[in-house]
Formats: sequence, C-alpha cells, structure tokens
Amino acid sequence: MASTDFCFICTKKQVNGIKINDRIICSNCEDRLVKTLPIDPQYDDYLHRIKTLLFDEINYN
Ligand SMILES: [Zn+2]
Repeated sequence: MASTDFCFICTKKQVNGIKINDRIICSNCEDRLVKTLPIDPQYDDYLHRIKTLLFDEINYN
C-alpha cells in the first residue's frame, strides 16, 4: 500500500497533519485554510481541493 504522507494542498511531504480520506492536510495548510477569508484568491483553490476530497469520499461509499 502506497504511503500518502504528502499534503493534499501544498503537495509537500508531511508527517504531521490531519488525515481525511487517506490524504493528509498538513498543520501549515490547515492553519492557512482556517485563516483564509472568502475574499482571498486562494480561498477558491482551497475550497475546490476540499470539495474534491469530500466528493471523492462520497463516491467511494
Ligand atoms: Zn500543506
């Protein structure tokens, strides 16, 4: 089984972070995600990635 300890958002190798659907969001990105405002251009990108993650999970079920 392939290890998936690469952050889902920044794609950097991570050992610490929250794991969702076998993917890791590093504490760095988690922190940025929480602090990113909807008016931030990055917000859409984050949101899109999170949605992909969640829809993936739904599809697997
Ligand atoms: Zn990250």
